[in-house]
Amino acid sequence: MFTKIIPNVVGNIQAVNNLRESQDKDKFFNNETKPKLTSNLGGGIFRINFKGNEVVDFTNELKNLENIHCPICGVKMLSQKSIQSLVTEGNRIVSAKSFVNWLEKNEEYVPEKYKKFVASAKRNSQEFNTRDVETLLSKMRENSYIFTQNALDDVKQTLVEMGEKYEVSDADKVLLDECFVLIDEINPAREKNVFHSVKQIVQETVLSMENEHVQEIYKTVMNKFVPAAQYQQLFVDSSADHKNIAYRQQVLQKLFSGSYMCVDNIINGYSDEKDWRINTILVCKDCKPPTVTHLFRYHKERANLQENFTKYVEDVSSNILDGKMKNAAFYPVSLLGLVSRITGDNISVSKYSTPILKEISKKHFDEMKADINFDIVNHRGVPCASCGEITITHEQKLKLYDDISKTSTTEELSDFLKKNKNVINSRYASIVNYINNAVQSNKNITENEIISHLKEMAAEEIKKHLIENLRMAQVLKSGLKPKDAALLQQYIDNVNNQFLDVSTKREFPYRAYSDLVKQTIFAVEDMGFRTRYGSDFKESMRKSYVKQTILFPLKSTEEKVGSPLKVIVQDMIKGSIATVDHIVAKDRKGWNNMANYAVMCKNCNNEKTNYSLLHWYDLHHSVAKNMQKYLNKVVDMIQKGELPDEYEKYPYVFARCVNTLTNGRIILRFRLNEKK
Ligand SMILES: [Zn+2]
Ligand SMILES: [Zn+2]
Repeated sequence: MFTKIIPNVVGNIQAVNNLRESQDKDKFFNNETKPKLTSNLGGGIFRINFKGNEVVDFTNELKNLENIHCPICGVKMLSQKSIQSLVTEGNRIVSAKSFVNWLEKNEEYVPEKYKKFVASAKRNSQEFNTRDVETLLSKMRENSYIFTQNALDDVKQTLVEMGEKYEVSDADKVLLDECFVLIDEINPAREKNVFHSVKQIVQETVLSMENEHVQEIYKTVMNKFVPAAQYQQLFVDSSADHKNIAYRQQVLQKLFSGSYMCVDNIINGYSDEKDWRINTILVCKDCKPPTVTHLFRYHKERANLQENFTKYVEDVSSNILDGKMKNAAFYPVSLLGLVSRITGDNISVSKYSTPILKEISKKHFDEMKADINFDIVNHRGVPCASCGEITITHEQKLKLYDDISKTSTTEELSDFLKKNKNVINSRYASIVNYINNAVQSNKNITENEIISHLKEMAAEEIKKHLIENLRMAQVLKSGLKPKDAALLQQYIDNVNNQFLDVSTKREFPYRAYSDLVKQTIFAVEDMGFRTRYGSDFKESMRKSYVKQTILFPLKSTEEKVGSPLKVIVQDMIKGSIATVDHIVAKDRKGWNNMANYAVMCKNCNNEKTNYSLLHWYDLHHSVAKNMQKYLNKVVDMIQKGELPDEYEKYPYVFARCVNTLTNGRIILRFRLNEKK
């Protein structure tokens, strides 16, 4: 709360008044706000190679939207231009009564900390029957002094309470008494900067105290004073005269300026490999953190965060549905996912939870679907452009599902697996082999026996990876600085205590594990360590976990299909379905033309998510070889006349696209002869 409030209040005061504060004081009072050296250094969004312009274009479109509420505090945000026109409008009003009406009409643009202004205007205009706006403002200013005086009394009271609570020494008591007297001498109406005066007095006091809870005392006391100081700031006048229109203009300017709509990033350290548009958000000036941190963590104590965030997503969605942004339906949908992920589900809004969100989700889905008009995906025997394994078409899948449902014994199911081995992804080889071997050695083996053994195998595999990771952490720990080493130790302890005992009865708690990795491995400051080893702690675990999940089919699916083992076999086949992959992901505004399309199996497509091709290639070098294999098949299809004429240009545009996106790392070769 502490550093959050202080910068807001201090604002432009800070520049003038820091003269007397020593370096040490700064350290003492500002320990949280030091900017950190991170991968983000150098201006964030502009560093992304080929998407740079996209992000800029998107941001510009976003900035021009109207009627957007702040995702944090819920205030309706204003552009610089609308602030100006509001101020101009307010300046033209003659009577106090119309002024009050006007304020009430625009109340949603007034930041929370100034809401009192509107109520006070109404009360004062009624109570004193003021005619003109300037007189009304004078009354309100006098009122703000009373409010400040009450807050000062509160501060004194709190000083006494804190002294008792922390059982301060006699020497400290004397200091607190002196502080009490100094605060007592403050006259709000005469102070030019009452916040600064109080802050200085309290700071001087606590810095001289010997009690160990001085930070706590400082925070508690100042927190009592912040709202009043903020409010009084509104009436501070740089000129001495409070009676003219220039004064009114100043007040109004301040009243609305906190609602200025800023573009910000949600988290620092968002992967450069991912789409930065999704990490972009509009937020009011008052809620924008002084340094980029983690918007939602920074504000985690705020009330109504989930409601305000939902409203924001709805506002942007409405604009998109009204055609204000083209091809942007991905943004609200992806944003919901990102925020839920990074807040550990603390802010978790379903994309179907409100009518507007439902509508935008449908639009998003339709936009995705409209693209899938890529003929190659409908042909049999096309190798996945990523893993190189043979994909199956939708019709093939239906036929295979039908065959599965016709089996009646484990032996028949095993025969099915042997016959269709080539369409089951090799990642499931251990499952397929086990089923075949188990049935071969015991024809009467039951499904339950098979499944429970498979679950044991899966748990063992996960455990094996955990032990490898523990060993890796143990070794790497010694090369790190003490603070980082402690994080690795924390990882080791937590894995030992919470995860190592892998259950065969339920799915591995991968989400919790991934959170642990985030909090320990990815919190290590050593960048070299993070980039080199960070994902190792997750990748193998994630793969084994995904494999394990198919062993726990839903009861409802089980009933529909007939048996749990049949569902498991179906799910293994499902992963091989041919899908159209957008090389540059759709939600990164990947081009809607065939150069950007490739057929991938469902498994790979799911795993690739919206990674850039270059990053995907870094993770899986075999992609180069497999893309060639895929392209060879396509060229073959073209020569045999199996594809429409316009596909003759595909090998050229596709190869060029892949080459460009990987900075020349993947070079695809082909020769297109005359059609046979
Ligand atoms: Zn806000
Ligand atoms: Zn694949």
